[in-house]
Parts: sequence; structure tokens; C-alpha cells
Amino acid sequence: MSEPRKPIVYIISAPSGSGKSTLVNELLKLVPKLDFSVSYTTRSPRGSEQNGKEYYFISREEFEQMIESAEFLEHATVFGKSYYGTARRFLREAEAKGHDLLLDIDVQGAAQVKEKCPDAVSIFVLPPDRQILEWRLRRRGEDDEATIQRRLDTARREIENYDKYDYVVINDKLEESSESLQAIVLSDRLRKTLSGSDTRMIELADRCRLSNIRSRVQPILESFRNLPAQA
Ligand code: ADP
Ligand code: 5GP
Repeated sequence: MSEPRKPIVYIISAPSGSGKSTLVNELLKLVPKLDFSVSYTTRSPRGSEQNGKEYYFISREEFEQMIESAEFLEHATVFGKSYYGTARRFLREAEAKGHDLLLDIDVQGAAQVKEKCPDAVSIFVLPPDRQILEWRLRRRGEDDEATIQRRLDTARREIENYDKYDYVVINDKLEESSESLQAIVLSDRLRKTLSGSDTRMIELADRCRLSNIRSRVQPILESFRNLPAQA
């Protein structure tokens, strides 16, 4: 019998409001044998969030105990206050099933995972520009004004890390972004097995490669840089 193959780890990061959750949900519907790593966090549940679905909500003491017993593949303090972490057990479980694993984590977590799993495939989702990000945050209707301003300010810093990622997806038209993400995941699988015929997937994904997208990213960064910092 052949050895179980190692799961491919896909990392997706984005400033809040870019559409990452929407895209992740679409991706999980479109791609078979792709598991979502449900993170642990010490922040409180929001809205309709359920324990074990979006996150495992635990206390700081429980989180620190898990750090002690080396249960995390990576963990970080996000927004300067709450702990977030990816449990190693999701990798083991994906491997046992012959599945791949999708991590929705921040820039700090992505760097830690890349260090430990250099073959991980990382994807950064950008909004088309700052104004659209602001509009999406407002339309989502989850945050008060101070939180929206904090998210925009955090976004300004986070987007400067885009070039640490293997792929960049500019989430303008949802359907196109979703197709690009699907293409990135599937083309990487193809590359790791072999196939000559699915070149369209590979071409679609390659359009989002950092080296092919730099010129489209610059005007987006400028749209964030040209505004005075929020208090
Ligand atoms: P994130 O998970 O990055 O914080 P969400 O997935 O919650 O972002 O998306 C923020 C808002 O933007 C939601 O109201 C969502 O429906 C909307 N949205 C996501 N992608 C697009 C898109 N491509 N075009 C227009 N609206 C979008
Ligand atoms: P939120 O609290 O809005 O759900 O998520 C805040 C940020 O934490 C997002 O950027 C999200 O990607 C990140 N995040 C969620 N889970 C993890 C995790 O396990 N590790 C790290 N490092 N970041 C995470």
C-alpha cells in the first residue's frame, strides 16, 4: 500500500472586510477533500458564531495550557488583545483522511506556518481599493464607527505584507475571485500529482502570482497611502 500523502496546507490572509470569509465558504463548497482548520481563540463569539464552527472559544488559561503542551502549529495575539491559534491536530486529521487543509489566519500566523511547512501555499486577498473596503465594512453592518476606523487602520499595515505570499487575489468581482481561488488550489494539487491537460487552471492561478500582479497592486496600495492616518 502507498504511504498516505502529506496534506497540502493552504493559507489565506486578508484585511478584515476584504471578503475572505465569503471566499473561504465558496472555496470549501467548490473544492472536494479540503478541510477547514477551525482556530482556537480567546475572543468572545460574535453574532451567530457557534463554538466548534467558526472557532473554538476558550479562556486565556485554557489557551496558555495548550501553548504549554505544544498543541499549536502556530499562534499569535491579533489586534493586540486576543489569542488565536491553529491546532496541530487538524493536520493529523487531514492526513488520515487524505485531505488538504485550509487555514484562515493572520500575517503573523502565516509567517510561522511557512517556517514550519515550507511547501504551504499562501494566498493574500486584497480589496480593490480602500474606499471599497470601507464601503464593504459599513454595508456588512457588524461594527461601530470606532471599530471600522480601527479595521481600516489595521488594513493599511497588513496590506504591506502582500509580497510575503505566493499568490494575491484582488477581490473585485466575487465570482472571478472565487474562480481564481479554486484555480490556485486545484492547480497546486495538479502540480503535485501530474497532468498535462489542465493548463487553464494553472494559467488562471498564475495570473495571481506575485510576479504577475505587482503592477495591479501598486494603485491599490497608493489608495491607502494617500490618505491621512486615522486618529
Ligand atoms: P472578511 O471575512 O474578509 O472580513 P466578509 O466575507 O465578511 O469579509 O465580507 C465583507 C462584506 O463584503 C460582506 O458583506 C460580503 O458579503 C461583502 N463582499 C465580499 N466579497 C465581495 C465582492 N467581491 N463584491 C462585493 N461585496 C463583497
Ligand atoms: P476575527 O476575530 O475577525 O474572526 O479574526 C481576526 C483575525 O484573526 C483575522 O485576520 C483572522 O484571519 C485571524 N485568525 C483567525 N484564526 C487565526 C489563527 O488560528 N491564527 C492566527 N495567527 N490568526 C488567526
